[in-house]
This record gives sequence, C-alpha cells and structure tokens, in this order.
Amino acid sequence: AAAAAAHGRLFAAQRAALSSLVYVETKGADGGFDEGALSAITAARALAGPVTAVVAGTGAAAAAKAVAAVEGVAKVVVAQDAAYDHALPETTASLLKALQAKEAATHVFAPHSAAGKNVLPRLAALLDAQQISDVVAVESEDTFVRPVYAGNAIATVKSSDPVKIVTVRTAAFPAAPASGAAPAPEEPAPPVDAAPLSSWLGEDVAKSDRPDLASAKRVVSGGRAVKSAEGFKVIYDLADKIGAGVGASRAAVDAGYCDNSLQVGQTGRIVAPELYIAIGISGAIQHLAGMKDSKVIVAINKDADAPIFQIADYGLVGDLFAIVPELTEKI
Ligand code: FAD
Repeated sequence: AAAAAAHGRLFAAQRAALSSLVYVETKGADGGFDEGALSAITAARALAGPVTAVVAGTGAAAAAKAVAAVEGVAKVVVAQDAAYDHALPETTASLLKALQAKEAATHVFAPHSAAGKNVLPRLAALLDAQQISDVVAVESEDTFVRPVYAGNAIATVKSSDPVKIVTVRTAAFPAAPASGAAPAPEEPAPPVDAAPLSSWLGEDVAKSDRPDLASAKRVVSGGRAVKSAEGFKVIYDLADKIGAGVGASRAAVDAGYCDNSLQVGQTGRIVAPELYIAIGISGAIQHLAGMKDSKVIVAINKDADAPIFQIADYGLVGDLFAIVPELTEKI
C-alpha cells in the first residue's frame, strides 16, 4: 500500500509537471500565421499542463497578439527574427530545443504541415526522441492514436521518451477558439546560436482566390472523368457558386487537368470539410485516405457501382457534363 501510495504521489508529481510547447509558423510580416497551429493547441490542451505557444519569424510580434487571445494558451514566446522565416528547420528546431529546455516542456506539438514535418523530426533527433507523427487523438500524456497504411489501420502508440515530439492531423482536432478572457502574457525568445545551414531561395505557389483546400468548409473535387483542363471549368463553376475550395484526384493531376497542389489523398492533401463533392472520381483507397473524414460526402459518377458510392452520403448517377452544370444553375 505504501509503495502504491508512493507511486501515486510520483505519478501525481509527474502529471503536475506536464507542459507543452506548440510551434506556430508565421506567414509574412503582417501577423498571418498557419491556423493549423490552433488545432495543435487543442491537441496540447488534452493534457493537463500549461500550453506555451512559440510564434517564430519576422511577423512574430504581430501574430503573437492573435495567438495570445486563443483559449488555453498560457503564455506566448515571441521569436521575432527573420532566421525563423519559412520554418527553416535548422534554426527553428534549435529555437524549439532551447525553449524545451528552458520551459522543461514534456511535449512539443506542431501541425502535420510541410513546416511541422520539416522542423519536428529535426527537433526529435536533437533531443534523441522518436517523433510521433500525424496523430488524430491524444489518449494520455504518453499514448497517441495515429492512422497507418493510408488510414486503413489505426495504431495506438505509447512513447517512453522523456519529451514527446508530436505532429497532429489538423482535420482531427477543432481549432482552439479565441477566448474572451485577458490575453496570455508574451515574452521574447532567448537568442539562439544556430548556424543557418540552409537558406530560403523562393517559392512558386499556385495563386487562387478560392478558399484554401486545407481550411475550406466545402470542397468540390474533379477526377479523371473531367477529361481536360477546359473540362475542369464545370468543377470551378460549381465551387465558385457554393464558395468551395477545389480538389482533384491524382489521375486528374497527373493528366495535367489542374495544379498538383489540388491533389487530395494519400500523397496529396488530407481534408475533412463539412461538404465534399467528388465528381468523376472512382473512390480509390488512396483518394479516400484524403477525404473520408469529411462530414457529408456527395458523389457524382456515371457508374452506379463506383466504390465512391460506398462512402457517399448522397449520390447522383449520371454524366457529370450534364449533371454538374444543371446543379450549378439550380443552386
Ligand atoms: P478513375 O479511377 O479512372 O475514375 C474515374 C471515374 O469517373 C470512374 O468511376 C468513372 O465511372 C467516372 N466517370 C467517367 N466518365 C464520367 C462522366 N462523364 N460522368 C461522371 N462520371 C464519369 N489518387 C488520389 O486521388 N490521391 C492520392 O493522393 C493518390 N495517391 C496514390 C499513391 C499511390 C502509392 C498509388 C499507387 C496511387 C495513388 N493514387 C492517388 C491513385 C489512385 O490509386 C487512383 O488511380 C486515382 O485516385 C484514380 O483517380 P480517379 O478516380 O479520378 O480516376
């Protein structure tokens, strides 16, 4: 009984010591930041300890104001330095390592974004820990749930590393809302001596006025059946009518009908909008891996036996070139 009580006290002491860092990637100098961090904050809040947001980049001071107002954020560390722009992994991982030590953080969270997938593995290596990637649930301080085999199996993993390094699937955690309470205190990050081993040369990103796929509440996707870049107009027209983001199957991307940033699936983007409309998409397992958690799925396909209908809430069987313009017009 004494040993059990001691163990209980030890466990309680360990629990009390829990604390998390959440990495927030800034976008530009005007206070923009990757809103996937709000989902990472929700994941961190599943643990009992305080959540410290680490906002890094030229726009850190401006972004920190919004992050400090987010529910559940206890403190914001502001790393206002161009060295952290574009989430360069060498400098950013060194910053997080220094802050993990300073704050004695037991957990470091980031979205499972290009930045998170670039920075956190390096941090994990620096801390000699094994990264836990793409988690969809936090069961306890050491146990996490993550999909494997393109979502065909769900693994529950338990980590014995002293510091847990975790990227989260943003579609699986709601964004932490702004709190009505007083904003969390801000403090500057300590200077970190990290040699920039890489430098940012530039990026070539497809520009679009449509909602970003990752955050769109509605997504309209086209597949191989759309047949051409011109044919994609029916997809764009419907998307614009309902304020949706545009997605595509890999077959449509590979055929050059649309930009590859639109690809949804195992090797593309993972989305979970309120409404997903799959048009001329058969429903291959690799496509489903990217959209099957959507709240309402609508499939439009001329083959009534297409596998996509097995996961669709609503289906329309027919020729997309007839049905979709009619649907757009009726809306
Ligand atoms: P198809 O399978 O050819 O389906 C076209 C559908 O359109 C058919 O169901 C047909 O009945 C219907 N159709 C035809 N004409 C019409 C019409 N006029 N009106 C209405 N319906 C019509 N795929 C992805 O999407 N995303 C990924 O990330 C991805 N990653 C992959 C990774 C790996 C390692 C591998 C091996 C494959 C991956 N794929 C991925 C490819 C995937 O296996 C499929 O080949 C692809 O999703 C098929 O695209 P599709 O549904 O557009 O085309």
